[in-house]
Amino acid sequence: MSRLETRFVADAFATNWIAPLGPNVDAFERELANYVGSEGAVAVSSGTAAIHLALRILGVGPGHKVFCSSLTFVASANPILYQGAEPVFIDSEPQSWNMSPIALEKAFIDAEKDGQLPKAVIVVHLYGQSADMDPLIEICNRYGVPIIEDAAESLGATYQGKFSGTIGKFGVYSFNGNKIITISGGGMLVSNDIGCLEQARFLSAQARDAAVHYQHSAMGYNYRLSNVLAGIGRGQLLVLNERIAARRAVFNRYYAALSNINGIEFMPEAAYGDSTRWLTAFTVNPSQCGVTRDDIIRALAEENIEARPVWKPLHLQPLFKNCKYYPHQATASVSEDLFERGICVPSGSNLTEEEQSRVVDCINRCFR
Ligand SMILES: *Cc1c(COP(=O)(O)O)cnc(C)c1O
Repeated sequence: MSRLETRFVADAFATNWIAPLGPNVDAFERELANYVGSEGAVAVSSGTAAIHLALRILGVGPGHKVFCSSLTFVASANPILYQGAEPVFIDSEPQSWNMSPIALEKAFIDAEKDGQLPKAVIVVHLYGQSADMDPLIEICNRYGVPIIEDAAESLGATYQGKFSGTIGKFGVYSFNGNKIITISGGGMLVSNDIGCLEQARFLSAQARDAAVHYQHSAMGYNYRLSNVLAGIGRGQLLVLNERIAARRAVFNRYYAALSNINGIEFMPEAAYGDSTRWLTAFTVNPSQCGVTRDDIIRALAEENIEARPVWKPLHLQPLFKNCKYYPHQATASVSEDLFERGICVPSGSNLTEEEQSRVVDCINRCFR
């Protein structure tokens, strides 16, 4: 927290707006939409809820397919299951670790042959870096299929001068405890289609029709964001740029200290935009350095330092074992390779230089 949050939270208490609506909610939506440059925003209880609403509004239902990045957190794809639809997983490309246009194109060619195009494509922006949207959009436009950007990890990242999450039909942000700014739990759905956002707002508040009594014609959800948490969000938004600078500084220090080790390769930053470096991630090639990713995780754990492998691709998860998957190349599954060799190291915005030196020293000792 930055301390700027308490003013907005105190406002909520002073005015007794302790509810899933109120002035902080309206202002948080406006301020976030302003920051990223979208026409509007709807504040909800989680990023997962925002993805769910987007799928629902796009008419995704039983029997439908939805294409989704494979190298991501399970929350990107769970809402596909909530809607009774079937995920088809798309591999990453090596330059950005994000959705491979080559794999996406193959999936579309097969879908067209089968006579069933997907209802939507969920493009995930991993670890603070935007996917390469232009080729992905070109393919999706050719088939007339809308994109939902899962920008839960990439708030503040850019692509060709635009903010990540503002390029597809819908964008989704998360303010979960681990994200670059947090309100403990919460999310935001953005779009330039105000009509769709109105639908989302309606569905997120139990789909109550305009009437004096309680009248319902559609099935809704209890997905609205608390006015107290929205107050935290308004304060956090004021320090988002500082948080991005801090995460990038953390990355740069790791890079300066470790990138000269033969066999360590940091997640590249694509030339088309700025990554927030939400998490610092790199791969370890044991045939080059004689050390495995798991050796490093173990050595850090012994020092009580938590590090984790990069996301386990969703097509490898037991939950999705019957789902189709399109690799980047017939002989090269990029997401599987990144999962086997990739590591995320401590990257918090409040990590001190001393703490980071402890991490670096411990990793360096693995190579001696
Ligand atoms: C965190 C995260 C989500 C889910 O956000 P919640 O607010 O926790 O529901 C979705 N997708 C990705 C890629 C995430 O990292």
